[in-house]
Amino acid sequence: MSAPHAGADFYHVEAWLAEHERSKLAELREFLAREVLPHASRWWDAASFPVDLLPKLAALGLSAPIQQGYSPLFQGLVIAELTRADTSIATFFMVHHDLYVEALHQFGTPEQQQRLLGPAQALEETGAFALTEPEHGSDISARMETTVRRDGDDWILNGRKRWIGNGTFCDRMVLWCTDESTGEVRGFFLDANAPGVTRTRIENKIALRTVQNADLVFQDVRVPESDRMQGVASFNDVKRLLLGSRIMVAWQAVGQQLAAFDVASAYAREREQFGRPIGANQLVQGQLVQILGNAVSSMSMLAQLAHLQRMSLDHDGSLEMPQAALAKSFTSARMRESVALARSILGGNGIVTDYRAAKIFADAEAIFTYEGSFEVNTLIVGRDITGISAFK
Ligand SMILES: Cc1cc2nc3c(=O)[nH]c(=O)nc-3n(C[C@H](O)[C@H](O)[C@H](O)COP(=O)(O)OP(=O)(O)OC[C@H]3O[C@@H](n4cnc5c(N)ncnc54)[C@H](O)[C@@H]3O)c2cc1C
Repeated sequence: MSAPHAGADFYHVEAWLAEHERSKLAELREFLAREVLPHASRWWDAASFPVDLLPKLAALGLSAPIQQGYSPLFQGLVIAELTRADTSIATFFMVHHDLYVEALHQFGTPEQQQRLLGPAQALEETGAFALTEPEHGSDISARMETTVRRDGDDWILNGRKRWIGNGTFCDRMVLWCTDESTGEVRGFFLDANAPGVTRTRIENKIALRTVQNADLVFQDVRVPESDRMQGVASFNDVKRLLLGSRIMVAWQAVGQQLAAFDVASAYAREREQFGRPIGANQLVQGQLVQILGNAVSSMSMLAQLAHLQRMSLDHDGSLEMPQAALAKSFTSARMRESVALARSILGGNGIVTDYRAAKIFADAEAIFTYEGSFEVNTLIVGRDITGISAFK
């Protein structure tokens, strides 16, 4: 029997990283193996977020990698690697860094950056991103019901948000709403503890149980003008942030598949039935190869997208939402197939969280739906290639 291949990066995408990025990724891997992987199922089962992990995560120095001079490929591989260890921790990290901290970089005034960036990068203050509403998910771009109105030097905020990750404990959130008088989109770095903000944890989730998602109610919340994002007027500004985070969610779909391959290939070599490893069966080998092919095609697609991101950042800003949407819809469909195959390879043990496959399988459902569902991202690409919108 020949030695098994080391992992699902079969086409050596990581080899394109610079030397310092490879060693940083190795440091992250070592950290995740020690601090996250051994505990992740326990956190998930208890639906509790490990706040003690935050100073250790911050010490890795991985906030806003592009601003620190790292490549988009490195940024994506960090999210894939975090997801490979635990999808919930990766989601916390993405919401905080790729949405909240990134919004501070893109829309923060020098004063807001001075006041808020330091504590956010050190994870002394945590952030959330509040866009979705109870009645508006896929159609939020056209129908946001949360409103603000100007009142002297302040704004008065009313409305509701749903599904907000980190929402139960965050210190601040990027809050999107509609200006009552102009109908324009407004954004705020809202103090999550302001009077009039009510936060309720969403219970009984079957995915991302470690992530604390909240229902939020805002009743006459007084928000100072100094917390308003400058230069935000339409949903196109929200999309500027979502373009980057959508690509990161596609990298999560890669991480899920790397994890599915890790778990299923190890189990197939160890588990014996009919007097030999189940991996000796042609059908099981076929399933493992399907997972591998899905993971490799997803990862290769995203490596090329990272190249486009690099060119877009350096030259022409040409990267557009349909390119991110294709990556999200394609990789999340491949992911759904891969995690189901992995779960099946573990047989009955694929049903309990003591073995990792069940958790990977369940967490994939959140990735399939958030950051624009599979269907909506597919329709964004459909509109781009036909010139005809299938949705309003
Ligand atoms: C675990 C989790 C974490 C999340 N975190 C956040 C967060 O931190 N911040 C935040 O703002 N939001 C967050 N979300 C919300 C997420 O972005 C929405 O769930 C998503 O946009 C879908 O909206 P919805 O759930 O209201 O579904 P709906 O929009 O009601 O859609 C229901 C179904 O109908 C389909 N559908 C809708 N319209 C069409 C159409 N025109 N054609 C075809 N199919 C269609 C959808 O694809 C979906 O399958 C999170 C969600 C989850 C599950």
